Amino acid sequence: MQKIKGSCLCGAVSFESVNAFDKLFLCSCEQCRQITGSAFASNLFVGIEGFAWLSGAEGIVSYQMPGRDISKSFCRVCGSGVPWASGDGSQMIVPAGSLSEPAIVAERLRIFTSEQPSWASNLEHVPSHEKFPEPS
Ligand SMILES: [Zn+2]
Ligand SMILES: [Zn+2]
Repeated sequence: MQKIKGSCLCGAVSFESVNAFDKLFLCSCEQCRQITGSAFASNLFVGIEGFAWLSGAEGIVSYQMPGRDISKSFCRVCGSGVPWASGDGSQMIVPAGSLSEPAIVAERLRIFTSEQPSWASNLEHVPSHEKFPEPS
C-alpha cells in the first residue's frame, strides 16, 4: 500500500503512515479551537498497524484533558502538532497539516459546527489572495 510521510516544522519528529485514511474530521469544538489556536482541528485517523515513527518520538510532549477524550501531542522544540494514539490505542490520530504529501481521504466531515466562531464562518466569501495582498 502507498505510504505517506509527515513531520513537525523543525523536522525533529517525523513519521510514516499508509496513505489510506477513512475519515478527516474538521472539528470546530471549543477545545479544538483552543488547542490549535485556530478555527478548527483537522484530524485524520489511521489504524495503528499502518503507522510508524521515523524520528524524534522521544521528543514529543503530550497533554490529556482531564475527564475528556481530547489530547494533544506536539514537538517539544517547535510546538507543531504531531500524531497521537486514540484512547483505546487502536488508531493514530494524525493532524492533517503535518503531512508532507497529498493525503488520500475517503470521507471528510465537519463536526461541532455549532461551536464555530463567527469569524471562521462563510470563509468561501472572504477575499482571497494567493500570497500576501498588494499593499494599499
Ligand atoms: Zn519540531
Ligand atoms: Zn474538537
